[in-house]
Amino acid sequence: MEDPVNMDIDGSNGTVVPRFDMMPPPEGEHISKEALLSFAQTHAAAHGYALMTVKKGSTPTRSKIICTLSGRYKNTHKVTDETRSRNRRSKKCDCKMYIEGRLVDVGGYKMWRLNVMNGEHNHEGQDPLQIPQYRKRSARVMKIIRSEMEKGRNAKQALDELKRQIPGTMVTSRDIYNTYTKLRRAARDNPDSLDDFDDDAIGSPEQNDASGMYDFGLTNSHTNGQASALASRHANRTNGDPSRLPPSPLEEPNPLEAMFYRAPDGSLLRTADLTETQRLQIEVQRLNREALRSKAEITQLKGMVRQLNEESRQNRGVQSDVRELKEMFDRYVLGVPPPT
Ligand SMILES: [Zn+2]
Repeated sequence: MEDPVNMDIDGSNGTVVPRFDMMPPPEGEHISKEALLSFAQTHAAAHGYALMTVKKGSTPTRSKIICTLSGRYKNTHKVTDETRSRNRRSKKCDCKMYIEGRLVDVGGYKMWRLNVMNGEHNHEGQDPLQIPQYRKRSARVMKIIRSEMEKGRNAKQALDELKRQIPGTMVTSRDIYNTYTKLRRAARDNPDSLDDFDDDAIGSPEQNDASGMYDFGLTNSHTNGQASALASRHANRTNGDPSRLPPSPLEEPNPLEAMFYRAPDGSLLRTADLTETQRLQIEVQRLNREALRSKAEITQLKGMVRQLNEESRQNRGVQSDVRELKEMFDRYVLGVPPPT
């Protein structure tokens, strides 16, 4: 006999089993308020809900943190069609779940203690991707990302700054990288802004390193200028036809001298931040590419030498034809006897 209580426990009999347990975050001490908020938010996202801090009820030594479905939507703002339809979908249901962070003394150390004040939600859990708070790139987040980008910071650095300013943010470095790309696209359409960045230089697929580890982009006008100078020098050397030879390995800019590199996960990182191991990997890859190019160049030079030899042989043939014709002319027209 099957145990009727446990029969439907996995939902196999058609019972809807809630996907999220809606558990409150475990209580405990954290080294800072930011660490506590980040911990609580990460926990909430994995358990089907989102949290937010509220000023009301918070003090310098206490932070009140509530479920985002607390309260009810009130039309207190100027409502446009867009916001109205968005707010109509608001799931706010006056949920009373909340926790607090409280500054405490633990053995002489100031710590932030997470206390669960009311662990019960009055609603089902939601996939984090469906929770607006986690999806939203608020104006504030965008402002920070943009400012970080303008300072030339990479996605990881921008994320650190974002986490510092908005603890518990769910934005990933991949999100930031995507935002960077969008901002760059916007900058390209409006070249007066963000002219330090060149989308083409960091995004074009043909620059992808075949080894797949890193690919490199020239990301500022200095290196772009260098590249075009090299290209024209190369064009001169190849009689104005740059396609005639592959770029000489000697003329390939060293990626370690560029300001940024793109990591395998797509994030744009500062070359100055590379570890010694990464630098060595990059250098090995560059040397490998040089070796391949050298090989290709040698093959092509051999082909050119063969072609010149052939032309020269043909020239020699023409020369001997001319000599023969001259001898015939001398003999039959001028009556000069043939050389002995
Ligand atoms: Zn709730």
